[in-house]
Amino acid sequence: MAEATFVSCGAGSGSPQGRRREVVVSGKRVKTVDVHAHCAVPAAMALVGRALETEALLMANTEERLRAMDAQGIDVEALSINPYWYTAERDVAAKLIQIQNEALAEICAANPERFVAFATVALQHPDLAAEQLEQGVKRYGLRGAGLGGSVAGLELSDPKFHPFWAKAEQLGVVVFIHPQGTAELDRTGRLGGNGLLTNTIGNPLETTIALSHLIFDGTLDRFPGIKICAAHGGGYLPSYAARSDAVMTTFPHRMTGTIAKRPTEYVRQLYVDSIVFTPEALRHLAAEMGPGQIVMGTDYPFPWTSTSVDHILSTPGLSDADKVAMLGGTARTLLNIPD
Ligand SMILES: [Zn+2]
Repeated sequence: MAEATFVSCGAGSGSPQGRRREVVVSGKRVKTVDVHAHCAVPAAMALVGRALETEALLMANTEERLRAMDAQGIDVEALSINPYWYTAERDVAAKLIQIQNEALAEICAANPERFVAFATVALQHPDLAAEQLEQGVKRYGLRGAGLGGSVAGLELSDPKFHPFWAKAEQLGVVVFIHPQGTAELDRTGRLGGNGLLTNTIGNPLETTIALSHLIFDGTLDRFPGIKICAAHGGGYLPSYAARSDAVMTTFPHRMTGTIAKRPTEYVRQLYVDSIVFTPEALRHLAAEMGPGQIVMGTDYPFPWTSTSVDHILSTPGLSDADKVAMLGGTARTLLNIPD
């Protein structure tokens, strides 16, 4: 097997941002894709009085973002916006999403080599969300949808949302699920105190709950073609997935619904990002899910990591083909990003 390497090249022509790292595996340039990159559209946020978390989310000036991408070896970011509009009334939500998706389309059009984006959708109004997804994909060239891990207290598996899942399946586009913490636990105070536990463990916990419901409530049976990509390595689900199989034989009388496969089989059809911090964690994730289910993420501009490329390159046990797939190959297929 050829050795995986990377090189850092000078900017060459046409790169005003300075040094752009070019990632190479077994002698071939890899087009790398970051599926987990945040941004914000203030004109949409203003409709519900939402404050900006950090200026680094803005896309009015992308120089700093492109510099970070160039330094890390990220060729393309798939932009998403964490939902803050799930309690908005229908007319407000319709306007907000229209402004937001138009802005995302403009951001991508201004720099088509570097940015694609997930459509935002008002999932609390599922029929509207289905329309917004279709319009986002067909009219604005967006590459799927971004969702939260729950919608104003309802699970993503709630039958109310079936029209949205049906549309996502019909369009064949990927749905990126990003958690928003576990608000129900926040209220108890159990995630208070040192360590930002509302985010540190609250976020992956919400993803774990969301994916578990999509499996156990039969959503993935009802819509077998849906493509789901979950943030932060799928939360805690892949690291402890076999317990979800074990419950079926340990407490069969507590299985109140029927699912077609063992839970771990559904886990292996999900996609997750690579934000799990250590080579051992990524090796385990690949073992549990299959290396072809993992796509690179950074969480930009939140500084959880700036070494996502090296994390993949340095993980033992991955073949060069696995690394190419994680760095960008799988995401390019999912997001329809050309060579
Ligand atoms: Zn994030």
